[in-house]
Amino acid sequence: MHREFHIGRDQRLQDNPRLIEACKGATSLLPVYDLDLTISRGPHQIAFLLDSLRDLQRQLRKHGSDLLLRIQKPAVEHVQWYNAADTMYRASDLPCSLSSLPDVFTSFRRLLEKNATPIQRPLHAPASLPPLPSDMVYIDVPTPDQLGYHVVQCDHRSAFPYYEPRWGAGESSAMHHLDEYLTSHQIDTYKATRNGLIGTSFSSKLSPWLAVGNISARTIAWAVRDYEDHYRANDGTYWLWFELVWRDYFAFRGRNLGLTLPASIQNLDHKGFQSWIAASTGSEFVDAGMNELRLTGWLSNRMRQVVASYLIHELQAPWQWGEAWFAMQLIDYDPASNEGNWRYIAGQGADPRGGRHFSIDHQQKMYDPTGTYTAYWR
Ligand SMILES: Cc1cc2nc3c(=O)[nH]c(=O)nc-3n(C[C@H](O)[C@H](O)[C@H](O)COP(=O)(O)OP(=O)(O)OC[C@H]3O[C@@H](n4cnc5c(N)ncnc54)[C@H](O)[C@@H]3O)c2cc1C
Repeated sequence: MHREFHIGRDQRLQDNPRLIEACKGATSLLPVYDLDLTISRGPHQIAFLLDSLRDLQRQLRKHGSDLLLRIQKPAVEHVQWYNAADTMYRASDLPCSLSSLPDVFTSFRRLLEKNATPIQRPLHAPASLPPLPSDMVYIDVPTPDQLGYHVVQCDHRSAFPYYEPRWGAGESSAMHHLDEYLTSHQIDTYKATRNGLIGTSFSSKLSPWLAVGNISARTIAWAVRDYEDHYRANDGTYWLWFELVWRDYFAFRGRNLGLTLPASIQNLDHKGFQSWIAASTGSEFVDAGMNELRLTGWLSNRMRQVVASYLIHELQAPWQWGEAWFAMQLIDYDPASNEGNWRYIAGQGADPRGGRHFSIDHQQKMYDPTGTYTAYWR
């Protein structure tokens, strides 16, 4: 039987249950990615996505297959693959149904711990792929400029310099990064350093690869488990799992409640919002964060919280506009995590405290006491 395989946020060969399923009984298989050019994407996000697809095309070619990139909107029945992240826990292994998912994250996390919910072992890449249909022409995945995008080089100060091969999109870079993160024992200090703002090593930096699916959260979880068996479990290994549970929680909430498409942010005439985007709010700390985001497509979790709180609670702009700006800019844009976190700060989501209104002065004193970050991205 001939099949099309719609690649979404699972741009990899290893631990790809959908790919394995698609190969079963297929006499020919056509791997397809529908690139919707009507979605607004910033220069860094489109560059990372196309690099990832190019890497996948290379891997598929090594296996006698290929990737057909079509410039079109995905059909309605395939849209979910382009939006939904692959989770660490399988929905069918959860100790609750999706419709009875706890409203509060802590209850969800405790439920997983109490029931020692299993994380499925990662699957091997298929040994071989079914042949391609013979009547197609496959061209190389284009570069952003070939698609008419304005190219902006990533700023060299980036905390995720994706233009360097070591940090580039693709399955092998992702696996190499995970391996190095563990063998260098950076994970041991994860809990203490995860609120850092500058540099490549204060947090795991796995999010861009996770967002396009160059690596699965299961692969990370099992590698961390092996690490614990080999060395020891510690605060760092626990907290990395904890953060990946947040990612799952937002993904399951999204599946359960549905995600709203990011708002259109064209022609919005809100002075506060415009100054936020332009990094000219007058708050030097917030402006530094907004500069970093625009110049690199990446921002630390701490600064995401700071700039989001400022937009919602100081500038009184709808959180949906901030969500939409992040959705365009981030190289690690993940619809469920992005919406979930914006709702959380706006007091609409999984937060028993009814929102997060951060004092910007206090945040700056805590996390940038000497002004180094603010000066770095001024
Ligand atoms: C307003 C706002 C918007 C966000 N939008 C996104 C987004 O579009 N895509 C995205 O991947 N993350 C998003 N996050 C979550 C978080 O900021 C990033 O996942 C994290 O900064 C990525 O860096 P890291 O891989 O070094 O994370 P680490 O701290 O090393 O964490 C490891 C992994 O855990 C997951 N994780 C960590 N924190 C969170 C969180 N709060 N929510 C969900 N998953 C989490 C990520 O997959 C991350 O890669 C957002 C946070 C905020 C406050």
